[in-house]
Amino acid sequence: MSEEFQDHQIRDVIKINYKYTMGGQSKFFIELKNNKRLLGTKCTKCGKTWMPPRINCSDCYEPADWVELKQTGIIEVSTIVWYTTSAFIKAIPYGVGYIKLDGAETALLQGIFSENLVPSKIKKGKRVKAVFNRERIGKMTDFFFVPEDEYDKWISKPEYEGGV
Ligand SMILES: [Zn+2]
Repeated sequence: MSEEFQDHQIRDVIKINYKYTMGGQSKFFIELKNNKRLLGTKCTKCGKTWMPPRINCSDCYEPADWVELKQTGIIEVSTIVWYTTSAFIKAIPYGVGYIKLDGAETALLQGIFSENLVPSKIKKGKRVKAVFNRERIGKMTDFFFVPEDEYDKWISKPEYEGGV
């Protein structure tokens, strides 16, 4: 290249329509959308119960079977979100955390909402319960967790409902 070459920028917008598949994990999203069930998987060899579900056990690489998990669990770790993408900007501040559902051996990263969002409300060891959007589309945002003592208040709101 000679000294004559100069970088320049062209500003433009790229719009892309696309589809993607959840593959072997599709059943989790279908059951979430249609039946408000939270499915994990259990390894056919070592018996480890995975949530989020793994089609094959990540420890021993053997196939895993679908199992329904309880919709209650315990917070393993959490934080309060103040900065986020445009998809969640209206919800801030909100909590996120790793939740270990009762019966699961691994933890699921998910939103934790509270009427009174202070760190002590969503700290490690607190018990939470899943609340579902009435209008579900088969995505992780179809549900979230709330402190167990707020569950009845959350499911009384018109846009949400309790699980099974
Ligand atoms: Zn295994």
